[in-house]
Amino acid sequence: MKNKNFPFENFPTDRKVCKIKEGVYWVKILLPFMISHVNVYILDDVDGITIIDTGLFCDSCIDNWRNILRNDFNNKDINRVIVTHHHPDHMGLMGWFKEKFNTEIWTSRSSWLTGRMLTLDYNKVMSQDSLNFWLSAGMPYALIEKKRLEKPFNFGDFVKKIPLGYRRVIDDEVLTIGNKKWFVKLTNGHAPEQLILYCPELKIFISADQILPGISPNISVYPTEPNADPLAEYFESCEMLDKIKDLDYLVLPGHNLPFYGLKSRIKQLVDHHETALKRIEEYINKNPKSAFDIFPALFKRTINESEMVLALGEAVAHLNYLLNYGIIKREVSDEGVNLFVK
Ligand SMILES: [Zn+2]
Repeated sequence: MKNKNFPFENFPTDRKVCKIKEGVYWVKILLPFMISHVNVYILDDVDGITIIDTGLFCDSCIDNWRNILRNDFNNKDINRVIVTHHHPDHMGLMGWFKEKFNTEIWTSRSSWLTGRMLTLDYNKVMSQDSLNFWLSAGMPYALIEKKRLEKPFNFGDFVKKIPLGYRRVIDDEVLTIGNKKWFVKLTNGHAPEQLILYCPELKIFISADQILPGISPNISVYPTEPNADPLAEYFESCEMLDKIKDLDYLVLPGHNLPFYGLKSRIKQLVDHHETALKRIEEYINKNPKSAFDIFPALFKRTINESEMVLALGEAVAHLNYLLNYGIIKREVSDEGVNLFVK
């Protein structure tokens, strides 16, 4: 039976474009690493098209785009590429589009700055800052030693060099694309100043990775800003999005299937984190615990080694939230591990 909240039951098959509405198209770009796919959207524009998000900088994504542009869009002019946030699966080919097609690049200032900054940061060996951060989060010593010898993740391996010039998009701006008005909201928590676009006339809401169906967006602390409180920022952004008048939007997310029910999904995601915070608070009680120690309270499954770094980032995010709220205190062990206690 068809689920009324998910009007498209299946993903478009590989290399196929799915028409969402007149002038709005969806493509699922398969990714060879990280997450399995990213959704990108294409809007008809006056004398051309506007592309929203790009996939990774890799041969298969480039090949996919060449096919789409040639077969489905008759190599129309690309007026602009709008990038929702700086993560490689969304920003990876921004520089490629600029270089190949001389398109305009539109994004928020934080997305552009963060992306550009991270491409300049190239490590041949695992950085001591990352190792220290994982140690402080309680990663087991044997795993830290293993990580020390691993090839580090370099953002620039998956993101084409980011061009010098871009067009800044600001909060509450109204963009005109294909004679339609698109309203901009900049959100935080998953990524700084993540760009959300919605069009009341088309009743389409492009939620990027802020509001996803099926999975909860990753809310993580990274070694670049160990004291960050992204969960507080996420809650604040969700509250702001919740104030948008609900016009029964079809939500087009960065991953998974388009869906209806924006408000209820926002509520589910906020509730999900709030109940996790309660579980963590109870779990800590009087016994000092590290970010690694709280995994059983935060996740309902065992975390394997390949998920460890992301899971630690999420755990630190929840602990930093409770710490900033004054609910728990932080002590540092002789080994340099942050331990949290009530
Ligand atoms: Zn993503």
